[in-house]
Amino acid sequence: NLQDKLDRAFKVLKGQGTITEINVAETLKEIRKALLDADVNYKTAKTFTDEVKAKALGSNVLTSVSPGQLLTKIMNDELTALMGGEASELDLKSNPTIILIAGLNGAGKTTFTGKLANYLKSKGKKPLLVAGDVYRPAAVEQLKVLAEQVGVPVYANTESKDPVGIAQEGIAEGKKNNNNVIIIDTAGRLSIDESLMAEISEVKAKTNPHEILFVVDAMTGQDAVNTAKVFNDRLDFTGVVLTKLDGDTRGGAALSIKSVVNKPIKFIGTGEKMDALDVFYPDRMASRILGMGDVVSLVERAQQQFDEKEAAELQKKIRKNKFDFNDFYNQIQQIKKMGNMKDLMGMIPGVGKMMKNVDIDDDAFKNIEAIINSMTPFEKANPDSIQQSRRLRIAKGSGTKLEEVSKLIKQFEDMRKVMKQFSNPAAAAQLMKNMP
Ligand code: GDP
Ligand code: MG
Repeated sequence: NLQDKLDRAFKVLKGQGTITEINVAETLKEIRKALLDADVNYKTAKTFTDEVKAKALGSNVLTSVSPGQLLTKIMNDELTALMGGEASELDLKSNPTIILIAGLNGAGKTTFTGKLANYLKSKGKKPLLVAGDVYRPAAVEQLKVLAEQVGVPVYANTESKDPVGIAQEGIAEGKKNNNNVIIIDTAGRLSIDESLMAEISEVKAKTNPHEILFVVDAMTGQDAVNTAKVFNDRLDFTGVVLTKLDGDTRGGAALSIKSVVNKPIKFIGTGEKMDALDVFYPDRMASRILGMGDVVSLVERAQQQFDEKEAAELQKKIRKNKFDFNDFYNQIQQIKKMGNMKDLMGMIPGVGKMMKNVDIDDDAFKNIEAIINSMTPFEKANPDSIQQSRRLRIAKGSGTKLEEVSKLIKQFEDMRKVMKQFSNPAAAAQLMKNMP
């Protein structure tokens, strides 16, 4: 994914004292490739890397900052600027505010209509939803179900096949009932087609919406950018909603769309549920793409690696005091799988800077692993059996000292005690009480 590729690109710069034309060019070539692979279009990627290069070469490298870190900072600032700098809010001044939702079939328009109503309701607004998809009866039903979930009214007219008329009736209904936001869901097509464009343009002309939000599926990559361009040429929309940015969706569309249509991304959809909606913050997206101080992705990475079933199994063992050196060894492998320790720690905001002078590397567990590997299967499964003579043999076998083996076994026993106490709620409560 993009993150891995950027990591690799930065490696080129790591350990080099100064930023020179040559090492920057090399790194930026890699970064450009990574951006292209993440669906960022060519023009955007090129402008972006040129800009970063100019800034990097023009800046003095502080001795305390490595070229890689400096470049990361420059890229973070540039990415943020590229995606609009600041978060862009909805214009809700008019009463009622009319919001038109546009986009292709399956983009997530109806889902977003429900989510937006939910969001605005939580802000104290009183929205009305208008079911403007006249081609699919199921679409009206879908909107009604979502509206009921979030507790807002829907205007629908299943007799009519006229989206413009329905939109106008909906607005009249909303005004009558003092709804201060009216959100008009519309039909889509599988691909861009003239009749769809003519129809939605007509709805726009007859309803004068204050906001026209173009909804697009982030998973469609470069197609998302092309579709955005066609809709914008025709509708001159006021903002973009990027849906399906959950999972491991490539974020490249977010970068390109803004630069191609020059309209702000206002929201991102991150799931199917009604609360899976976030205001789009360019700086957060930039950090997410670059992996700077991103606790969320740190947690996600940890979760990916830690199998839930294994965790439950482990819990059971701890409770029965069966946690042994085999489990301990597996735990170390889990931690190591999460990635380079130093990089991992660096993702925690505030810790990154501190870690600069601390020496943690992947060898941190080397001696521990060697000691465990020198135990017999019986010893691993029965930590209590490891007395003096066995410890001596293990030390010799692992190339460590007797004290190191004894220290590890002592630490392991302490850890096991604490784990057992924490797996028993009553004991854990007692333990907490005794803490200073
Ligand atoms: P429409 O045809 O544009 O109205 O699209 P829908 O709102 O019916 O959504 C199409 C499908 O995408 C549905 O199955 C939604 O549940 C799903 N969907 C919409 N938004 C998101 C999102 O942000 N994340 C995920 N994972 N699924 C979404
Ligand atoms: Mg729909």
